[in-house]
Amino acid sequence: MNDIFDFESQRDQLALLCQRLREFNDAAPALSNVESAVQRMQLCRQHNVFKWFTSSEHGGFGWSTDEIMHGYLEISAACLSTAFILTQRHGAVSRITGSENKAIKHKLLKELANGETFCSVGISHLTTSHRHLGKPVLTAKKCDGGYKLDGFSPWVTGISLADSIVIGATVVEESEKDRFRPNATDDEILILVETNRTGVTRPETPHLVALSDSCTGEVRFDNVLVGDENLLGGPIPKIMFQGKGGNTGGLQTSTLALGLSDAAITFLEEQSSHRNEFENPATSLRTQYNIAKTKIFALANGIETCTSQEIRATVNSLVLRSTQAAMMAAKGAGYRADHRIGRWCKEALFFLVWSCPQPVAETNLCELAQIS
Ligand SMILES: Cc1cc2nc3c(=O)[nH]c(=O)nc-3n(C[C@H](O)[C@H](O)[C@H](O)COP(=O)(O)OP(=O)(O)OC[C@H]3O[C@@H](n4cnc5c(N)ncnc54)[C@H](O)[C@@H]3O)c2cc1C
Repeated sequence: MNDIFDFESQRDQLALLCQRLREFNDAAPALSNVESAVQRMQLCRQHNVFKWFTSSEHGGFGWSTDEIMHGYLEISAACLSTAFILTQRHGAVSRITGSENKAIKHKLLKELANGETFCSVGISHLTTSHRHLGKPVLTAKKCDGGYKLDGFSPWVTGISLADSIVIGATVVEESEKDRFRPNATDDEILILVETNRTGVTRPETPHLVALSDSCTGEVRFDNVLVGDENLLGGPIPKIMFQGKGGNTGGLQTSTLALGLSDAAITFLEEQSSHRNEFENPATSLRTQYNIAKTKIFALANGIETCTSQEIRATVNSLVLRSTQAAMMAAKGAGYRADHRIGRWCKEALFFLVWSCPQPVAETNLCELAQIS
């Protein structure tokens, strides 16, 4: 790694970016979701963020997991939507980096580091989405020189901006396409699909409870032919549990929840300087934040004081409680749709559904139902 471009050297850039993101959100410019996402990604590019994720060999800074998580922590406290789009772009970069496909690495990683192209991921249907249906929603049929993709990927963040997507698909024979087969261990592939390929369509993205400006929506594939040269992994069973970069319940999800908690607790601390009743709650939440932060960064550095799923359940709870505590301090004014506290409360709900593995969901559900 090049010493000159480590986390410390980029601190000022990061602080400036966070300040500009806060100003952007406070100004609430009348932009479409796409325009808003494009502008925030441009800010990230100007402040070198895209370089964090790729090695110096491919024109990046090659930051460690620890450094990237410190970056995510600050950006998510300033603008969760920006941090979230970055994680999905980062997911694509990680899958490309971890693949054996030298040609794609050579072509795309430099462009991604320079912000010349945008790539996202559509993989949750292999892990946490549409699993109960018992049949794959996106299939890949082997054909001469490649695969034919058919079906849809239900969630792809930044889809309106994406030039390409890293897509997961289940390999099937034509005759098996519609067979119901719960618990099947079919082969799966990861493949890069350009969004301008014939048969790829991007329906209008839905209006979400929050984070609509992450431009998240589904992508449909109507017998889309993609050559073997785009293959990033597989065919193998359970491809998402191989390698790095896409496993569910990962530490970066927890880091973003922690970042949003930080924003809410900071608001409470500011209020408690002139409103005594918020002093104890702010102190208690800050202590919980500090403990969770220590555990997350210990895990990132290979020290296991808890599992990544335990910390995820802990910060899911913290982000809900701290944003709602902030709402109590903001009172009715905070309930206005244009107030940042109301936005944070809605954003906190996202952690209950985003890449939330069953054990994490069960822990949080027991807490909500007060089952010990
Ligand atoms: C804003 C947002 C952005 C996202 N971005 C990305 C991304 O960039 N890339 C990516 O790969 N993923 C992404 N995801 C997907 C995410 O990580 C989860 O996979 C997703 O939230 C799971 O929700 P689902 O509705 O698809 O789950 P599903 O399990 O498909 O649930 C859908 C519906 O089915 C019902 N259901 C579920 N299980 C059962 C059952 N056993 N029996 C009967 N009914 C059942 C549920 O009640 C639910 O209403 C994103 C999700 C969101 C919300």
